Amino acid sequence: MDENDASAAPKPAFRRAAAGPGTAARLRDDARRGVGRKTSVRVGRTRVGDGVFARKWYRGDEIVGEIEGSRITDEQYSSEYCMDLEDGSCLEPEAPFRFLNHSCDPNCRFNWHDLRQEGKAGLRRRVFLFALRTIRPDEELTIDYGWPASYAIPCRCGSASCRGWVVAEEELSAVVAAQSVE
Ligand SMILES: [Zn+2]
Repeated sequence: MDENDASAAPKPAFRRAAAGPGTAARLRDDARRGVGRKTSVRVGRTRVGDGVFARKWYRGDEIVGEIEGSRITDEQYSSEYCMDLEDGSCLEPEAPFRFLNHSCDPNCRFNWHDLRQEGKAGLRRRVFLFALRTIRPDEELTIDYGWPASYAIPCRCGSASCRGWVVAEEELSAVVAAQSVE
């Protein structure tokens, strides 16, 4: 890939986990109810360091918890754990969700919702972890980091559909192309 070709990189190449807007009205209602709810997860060891594990059953679309952390408005900021809120800011998560590992076949994803705040005007963008399918107790919770190609590292997620790299699906071809040049 030609690094000077700006059109080849439409998205800013910061290392941030992808989060998306939660749109369905029902999920918005769930998110409202999920605010402040205690989460039933634990942090434990995995073969790639710490990870987050379910302590109960979750059904698909269920909220596992709200991601708490510090809001960073520096548009250039990037880190291994921060999540893109798509409004120029990102969220640097606290434990336990700070320790979510990547999988190319994840069982969770981040959605943000703009929620009204109790007794205050305006909306606040808050991030929730949603189960993508049924999750059983002691199963590790994973997300797709969706990193840009410039931050790709070899993936050891072990899923049948592993892309071989921790990288966004749409950026995989850029990583493979860069490898064949070296
Ligand atoms: Zn993988």
